[in-house]
Amino acid sequence: STHFPLIIVGGGPIGMACAIAAKNAGISYLVLEKGSLVNSIYHYPVNMTFFSTSERLEIGNVPFVSNNAKPTRLEALEYYRRVAGSFQLNIRLFEEVKSVGRTGSSFEVISSKDSYRADHIIIATGFYDIPYLLNVPGEDLPNVTHYYKDPHFYAFQKVIVVGAQNSAVDAALETWRKGADVTMVVRGEEIGKRVKYWVRPDIINRIEEGSIKAFYQSSIKEIREREVDLLTPDGVVTVENDWVIAATGYQPNLDFLHGIGIDLSADEVRCPVINEETHETNIPGIYLAGVICGGMNTHRLFIENSREHAGKIVAAIKKRLA
Ligand code: FAD
Repeated sequence: STHFPLIIVGGGPIGMACAIAAKNAGISYLVLEKGSLVNSIYHYPVNMTFFSTSERLEIGNVPFVSNNAKPTRLEALEYYRRVAGSFQLNIRLFEEVKSVGRTGSSFEVISSKDSYRADHIIIATGFYDIPYLLNVPGEDLPNVTHYYKDPHFYAFQKVIVVGAQNSAVDAALETWRKGADVTMVVRGEEIGKRVKYWVRPDIINRIEEGSIKAFYQSSIKEIREREVDLLTPDGVVTVENDWVIAATGYQPNLDFLHGIGIDLSADEVRCPVINEETHETNIPGIYLAGVICGGMNTHRLFIENSREHAGKIVAAIKKRLA
């Protein structure tokens, strides 16, 4: 199997930042990405706008020019693709890492297509792969999705949106504007405080004027093809419905880290234990970068405050190699 001084798992913005840092440091590396380039962003809703301004999404000191202060998903795809192309990053796409194990003095990386040996590993696998499930009967019906994409699909349909954070609010507003009859099901008492500050008044006004219906302190009890039972403070309410968009968030694949032998905190955050200076885990030579470093606390780290992991890790690897 081919040997690399460094293998990076995940071709998201932060995996790419690590690749650029390695390249700049003269360290030969390979990135393995299970999907397309910046796969998570590719799978975001098609019309999604970032909450960050474009300069905060920049990697490798390449300016990110966007038309408005907050770039769109399409602009971000354009940007990261151009960055990968101009740095000629060594990335193999649609190749999933299945396991990482020790063999003698190096690591053995087994992917869906090949196997490799590496002296150092950076894991930058993000948090977009595993949705939080509702765990209710009917969740597996074909009219239920955890990955909302495009509003046109829902035109003139009855739609239930579960959740009250950015994804839920964006889906509710977009589908309503394309003619859907929208009902939000919100566990708490109000629309999330973290919702983009320029979007939150919009959704609150739509709910107050009655254009979008909302059930607060409520949850889904059961989904059927044409109806949904809601658990509300007034008891069970059955509503007619065509589609359910469960915008209940996503969780990182921490079992993957655990399986490799990386220590996680014992509490519910399951925060990977890392050296803050170097981002090295309890396994010497394995480093973590990006949003995965926060464990279940996926809101603590995002692109703008985790792109700096790349420089720290590559500096540590360079030191070990010297
Ligand atoms: P990701 O971008 O998730 O990249 C991880 C990559 O690893 C993925 O491409 C995945 O396919 C790949 N992967 C996973 N497992 C494997 C495996 N076993 N083998 C190979 N490859 C694997 N952040 C901001 O800073 N600003 C924003 O405005 C913003 N808006 C957001 C909007 C939405 C709707 C969502 C969901 C998130 C948003 N975020 C935003 C968060 C942002 O997406 C993440 O912080 C960012 O993607 C983290 O980058 P990452 O490289 O750590 O992880």
